[in-house]
Amino acid sequence: MVRLDKLKNIDLCTGCSSCVNVCPTNAIKLERDTRGFYKIQISNSQCINCLKCYKVCQLVSSFQSRNDYIQQIFCTINKDVLIRQKSSSGGLFIEICKGMKKMDINSTIYGVEFDNNLQVNHVGHKSIDKCQAFIGSKYVQSDVHRIFSEIKLKLEKDEKILFSGTGCQCQGLKLFLRENNTNLDNLILVDLICHGVSSPSLWDDYISELEKINDKKIIYYSFRDKSISWAGINPKVICEDKEILKNNLFLKSYGIFFGNLALNNCCYSCNYTNLNRVGDLTLGDYWGIPLDNKLNDGKGVSELLINSSKGFDLFEIIKGNLEFFPIQDKSYIQPQLVKPTKKNIRASLFWHDYQKNGYYYVYNKYIKKNKKRLIKQKITQFKYRQKPFRPLQYFFQLINLRKK
Ligand SMILES: Cc1cc2nc3c(=O)[nH]c(=O)nc-3n(C[C@H](O)[C@H](O)[C@H](O)COP(=O)(O)OP(=O)(O)OC[C@H]3O[C@@H](n4cnc5c(N)ncnc54)[C@H](O)[C@@H]3O)c2cc1C
Repeated sequence: MVRLDKLKNIDLCTGCSSCVNVCPTNAIKLERDTRGFYKIQISNSQCINCLKCYKVCQLVSSFQSRNDYIQQIFCTINKDVLIRQKSSSGGLFIEICKGMKKMDINSTIYGVEFDNNLQVNHVGHKSIDKCQAFIGSKYVQSDVHRIFSEIKLKLEKDEKILFSGTGCQCQGLKLFLRENNTNLDNLILVDLICHGVSSPSLWDDYISELEKINDKKIIYYSFRDKSISWAGINPKVICEDKEILKNNLFLKSYGIFFGNLALNNCCYSCNYTNLNRVGDLTLGDYWGIPLDNKLNDGKGVSELLINSSKGFDLFEIIKGNLEFFPIQDKSYIQPQLVKPTKKNIRASLFWHDYQKNGYYYVYNKYIKKNKKRLIKQKITQFKYRQKPFRPLQYFFQLINLRKK
């Protein structure tokens, strides 16, 4: 057996951290690679060849838990419109956190939040107030740190845990806990329908360019400002002097790279873009909702996949705070439930340009001077519009874009 970091496909490491957590000698660390994604590094002097890392690595091991549960799929929104406004989709996740606390006040909930420097971290909280920081997707690969070991200890003490993350992160946690013979009865997993994650270093560079251009520190960032549109990535940024930045091209640039240019290589061959979910519950946007449906008010609609009886029990607790109906056709099957995101043919060139010339250069080359992309974005915004359609105004906007 070759060592884990010498595997041919190690470039497809998801950075889930299960090997970091299982290593008995702390020989494995997650470090940012040349593109800025978290990948494993093994220290020669510390490795004792126990091969535990092999057993928990999703590149070589799998976890096919038999699940006879008949999956149920709902279109749903949080009745609280203010929560929906802040959330990425229909505002379900924070309701799930509340449900978990109702189930067991002592439970710990793990999700992703920004720290004060806008670094994207997986953390655990017991208090529902602190869980508010989980609201809203941060479209950056999160740093999972050593929380799998923390979760294991809590489960061993019979505490209830809810962990949310991408399919690969949930799978990493399951493989790690299986290797440790941890009882999974008290664990609820919420996985996300996932298009892919982008690079934390690209994110850092974007934020520091943004701060440089505006000459002030950013204290708040939301990827999806629904006062503009539920669809696409429309950031809303608040600076330390309370100025709000919105709706300019540079601001949108990170989200555009996130589209399919700057994803982690493993995302292009993701094992979790299907209906066989790792989580007890799966959350995503319900893009298939008819325009005239009363739940479609432009503030975001969720699709919820219930994949196990544990997931169903939690849904039963929260359903009073939701509006919902079962989806009985195939309208919930979005591309990320069928196959991985397709790699942009310019992705390799993009990384080469970024590594050599930096963020501002790739912004100019791939966004500022790319008119085709701008027109495509306008069409998407039109499709998911909230305001009444004014054909003339829309026509002139398109013409202006062509002229610029
Ligand atoms: C990287 C990424 C890609 C996604 N791609 C798609 C997609 O293609 N199609 C689709 O329908 N939905 C996608 N989603 C899911 C969607 O954006 C919402 O997160 C989901 O629908 C829940 O929304 P909500 O309104 O219920 O709650 P929200 O409050 O918006 O929920 C946020 C949830 O996302 C978690 N989270 C935030 N950032 C991260 C991160 N970096 N890594 C892991 N977990 C994170 C939080 O812990 C919380 O559980 C993606 C999410 C992420 C993070």
